[in-house]
Amino acid sequence: MANITYQDDKLLLEQIACDCGLQHGVPDMDIYIGRSLLERLPEYLRQRQLGSRVVVITDNVVYEVAGRTVVELLRAAGYAVKLCLLERDEPLLPNETALGEVLLTMETDTEFLLSVGSGTLTDIARYVSVCTGKPFACVGTAASMDGYTSVVAPLLHGKQKVNKPAGYPAVLVCDIEIMKTAPLEMMIAGFGDVVGKYIAKADWILGRIVNQEPYCPACVELIDEAVGHCVGAIAGIRAGTEEGIQRLIEGLVLAGLTVLVIGHTRAVASMEHNMGHYWEMLKLQREEDHPSHGTAVGVATGYVLRFYEQFLQADLDHLDLEAIKNQRWTEAQREEAVMQAYGRAVGRKLLDQEDNGLISWEEQVRRIRVLQENMAAIHSELTFLPSVSEVVAMYDRLGAPQTAAEIGIEGDLLRSSMLYGKDYRNRYSVFNAAWELGLLEQWVDRVLEKQ
Ligand SMILES: [Zn+2]
Ligand SMILES: [Zn+2]
Repeated sequence: MANITYQDDKLLLEQIACDCGLQHGVPDMDIYIGRSLLERLPEYLRQRQLGSRVVVITDNVVYEVAGRTVVELLRAAGYAVKLCLLERDEPLLPNETALGEVLLTMETDTEFLLSVGSGTLTDIARYVSVCTGKPFACVGTAASMDGYTSVVAPLLHGKQKVNKPAGYPAVLVCDIEIMKTAPLEMMIAGFGDVVGKYIAKADWILGRIVNQEPYCPACVELIDEAVGHCVGAIAGIRAGTEEGIQRLIEGLVLAGLTVLVIGHTRAVASMEHNMGHYWEMLKLQREEDHPSHGTAVGVATGYVLRFYEQFLQADLDHLDLEAIKNQRWTEAQREEAVMQAYGRAVGRKLLDQEDNGLISWEEQVRRIRVLQENMAAIHSELTFLPSVSEVVAMYDRLGAPQTAAEIGIEGDLLRSSMLYGKDYRNRYSVFNAAWELGLLEQWVDRVLEKQ
């Protein structure tokens, strides 16, 4: 599947040939990417035999761009359409109100859902779909994130972010002519979500070396292709050309597909995502606006790359193990720090996740030793990481924000996200390595001094 191939605008998904030991699924999903696809939507849906009674979910902004056309085309083709138009003055939130509106638009004989929109609308449909047992399809209207093929719905319950397991669309239609009309900020967000994959890959390699984590080279190949695809198209993305947008959405879809292939997000999300999630959660608690997902990930990626520079420059041959041992927290100290950083309610939830406790001192020493013995190998495996200046140059060319301050993230949130982002879940990253080496705070301070 390393090369993108189409048959009549339909992406061909093949079985992955890989002997990494992980289970590889072929997503049961029809993905179309191309031009003038909306008019073919009724036919695409019919091929999938989803039924004829559909609830179309969109918001007032997307309705004008594509929603109205979709409804008209479906009605003309004989579909019984009920429209769930989520009308908002502010940006739409994936919360209990929106979910309730969709449920109240559905009837007992509704056969499937169709979302017309990008991240938020897809997530709303994804969750209602899984809760009601009705399939859903999706018309993607912006190349703003890699979640069209995700199986998790990030939603809001009260003011709290909740990640709910959910399904993926049976049909995904990405019409480039519509996607190119989305605001540049949305493409910048999409690009940020893709650039973050450099970090996800580097952290996964560290996890493989240090903890023998299962690692899928075929998924990494997909991610490489996705990233290369987008990085090679910066000028076109910025100018909003059809080719640029096509490459961006292809990159996002390819990256997202790895989640369906191996059933988890290891290949696409690590500390850059944790930092973005942290900013979002804390901003929600403070009742302030937060940057969009991909934009946050893109900015966080710059900080994590700087942090990687610290790691790769470090001399690990002369560590004082006694001093590192003395710095170790007790479980209670760590719990208190995490609850302080995330707020008590969220912090408690994170700590209660499986395997999200402190590792033993013996385990810490083992990991330190493995790092010390493998630094040469780590250096050579991580040569794919771009330098900070290369990423700065990319963001300049795209017109993307680069600092936390530019996207409204204050210094205290930034620092705290770098210190506690690793506690968001149990997923080994360079920040875990740094903490276990007793160097986390020092390196965070160095990165922040330099910005
Ligand atoms: Zn993402
Ligand atoms: Zn594999």
